[in-house]
Amino acid sequence: MRTIYVDKNIPKMLAVKALKPVWKGVVYAPFSPARFEDLPDLPLPGPRWLRVQNKVCGICASDLALLNVEADPKIGPAALPGTKRYFLGHEVVSVVTEAEPDVTRFKVGDRVMMHTRFQAATCRSQEIEPLCRQCAAGNYILCENGSLGSGPRGDGGGWGDGYTAHETEVYPVPDDLTDDQAAMVEPLAVGVRTALRRLPEPGEKALVLGSGIVGLNVIQALRALAPDCHITAAARYPHQQAMARRLGAEDFLDGADGYQAAGRITGAKRYEGMMGSRMCLGGFDVVYDCVGSDATLQDCLRWTRAGGTVVLAGVKLKPLSLDLTPVWHQEVNLIGLNSHGQESWQGRQLQTFELVIELLRQGKLTIEGLITHRFPLEKWKQAIETAQDKKSGAIKVVFDYR
Ligand SMILES: [Zn+2]
Ligand SMILES: [Zn+2]
Repeated sequence: MRTIYVDKNIPKMLAVKALKPVWKGVVYAPFSPARFEDLPDLPLPGPRWLRVQNKVCGICASDLALLNVEADPKIGPAALPGTKRYFLGHEVVSVVTEAEPDVTRFKVGDRVMMHTRFQAATCRSQEIEPLCRQCAAGNYILCENGSLGSGPRGDGGGWGDGYTAHETEVYPVPDDLTDDQAAMVEPLAVGVRTALRRLPEPGEKALVLGSGIVGLNVIQALRALAPDCHITAAARYPHQQAMARRLGAEDFLDGADGYQAAGRITGAKRYEGMMGSRMCLGGFDVVYDCVGSDATLQDCLRWTRAGGTVVLAGVKLKPLSLDLTPVWHQEVNLIGLNSHGQESWQGRQLQTFELVIELLRQGKLTIEGLITHRFPLEKWKQAIETAQDKKSGAIKVVFDYR
């Protein structure tokens, strides 16, 4: 089984971190913790386990952050034991090739999407009873037993020939979904969960900062779930701006001065103090920060009206340094999310994946034009470089194994 992984090997990680500023391709060096390797297929480790063969898998910014050893050892999640080896690729549609006798939800030949396999284990995958409160509520990614390390862990990931999983870690693909749509369900789910964390009321003004795939999916999720809100977007590249407009953005933060744009679009009053400090009174009702850097989060908090909300959807794997005063001074709410889980929507409780599938069927979400590049596994370096170079016109780059 050919697969791409990153080992949690501290000396190797430190070596790559140290050399990265002067050696661009250091993550591909022989001593890098990132490897492309052909591993032997191990027997399935339990009676509810299955093996899948991959069809299509997306390249996600979180994969790239792991590959480039961007995580700072001081962040909270770094304290969790996690796994010794991260298999890259979670936006993946596959077909079941082997299933142990106690697998009840799938049979050989079924198509599946990776659901919870990519993060920590869950109560279900470790067969722990009773379920913790998060798993009982359907928020498996937030499992309180996720770092126990009990029970086997799967082998392989989306970037490679296939992987093994407990049957509760994958999600069925309905027959009417194409492989491409199925591979995009996870990134769409992130957009839907971001929007549902603080859905705008009719007439409210929303700002989506960042028009990479996360921002674009937030825009289309807002259009689908809150059709009567006003959406402003901020896009760095022309191809992103064109796509943001197509998916429902009505206005754009022009150039660098978001303060001026906040004034123009929301009627916010703008003030400028000493040493370049700037502030709005009034502003957007809700801001989705799909970049998540020190600078963007600091600005987002200042462009939000008193009592409004900033949703942190972009993830940086390092401690940020920024001014949080708007959180108390203007009572701005700052909340975030981790990928997908259980949602409340129109009086129903359902998984984010299920809601995405419904919205795709209704044509309220789309993948049209979002997959811009396809590569075979052998061209993995080229695929990664294309995904990292936004001037390439890339929105979503995928590995296509078919
Ligand atoms: Zn992803
Ligand atoms: Zn749990």
